[in-house]
Amino acid sequence: MSIRANLERIRSELPSTATLVAVSKFHPKEALMEAYEAGQRIFGESRVQELVEKQAALPKDIEWHFIGHLQTNKVKQVAPFISLIHSVDSLKLLQEINKEAERINRIIPCLLQLHIAQEEQKFGFSLDECRGLLSNGLLINLKHIRIRGVMGMATLTDNDSMIQSEFKTLQSFFEDIKETHYSSDPLFNVVSMGMSDDYPLAVQAGSTMIRVGSLIFGDRQY
Ligand SMILES: *Cc1c(COP(=O)(O)O)cnc(C)c1O
Repeated sequence: MSIRANLERIRSELPSTATLVAVSKFHPKEALMEAYEAGQRIFGESRVQELVEKQAALPKDIEWHFIGHLQTNKVKQVAPFISLIHSVDSLKLLQEINKEAERINRIIPCLLQLHIAQEEQKFGFSLDECRGLLSNGLLINLKHIRIRGVMGMATLTDNDSMIQSEFKTLQSFFEDIKETHYSSDPLFNVVSMGMSDDYPLAVQAGSTMIRVGSLIFGDRQY
């Protein structure tokens, strides 16, 4: 199947409430251009060096999302153009993004990454850590970031009910903190969950943004 056909099939199944991020990490610029020519404008990358190179070379109306672990010392390189950082998992990183955004007079949209899976994952806040962060008042001072919602990854498993329950946990956590901390903010509206293997379950559970790579571009060449 061509990249265009893959995109069209996925789009035809998605409700209008869910945005498709085409995860293009490890794929060459030519593959991204095929997706671009099929109308895709939002791409997700997980490595700063690769992202910066692609951003410089590809059309300027692409929205770049960062979905991988972001080291504080690399924030500076993506701050000028990044549209959404999905993977914010520490106060230190939020402060660094805020600092760089202030320097270049931008407000950078971010998602809080939550650890929802049963399996060990290296990154993401626990739900309690995240509630603590939202309650301690420190975020209010970070005027150059805008928290748009949450992101999470389910356990890599064949057990659909486990995946479903993890996605529901993220969805209800989102509703919970929206009510408590963002009730007057219409832009707090992103639940980023669902990848190639589990996006239908994520959409069922209320995902508003899915991050799909291999189903569009084929297997990654590591
Ligand atoms: C690689 C990646 C994806 C896409 O994974 P696929 O299984 O190829 O769809 C989504 N989200 C994150 C955070 C990733 O690192």
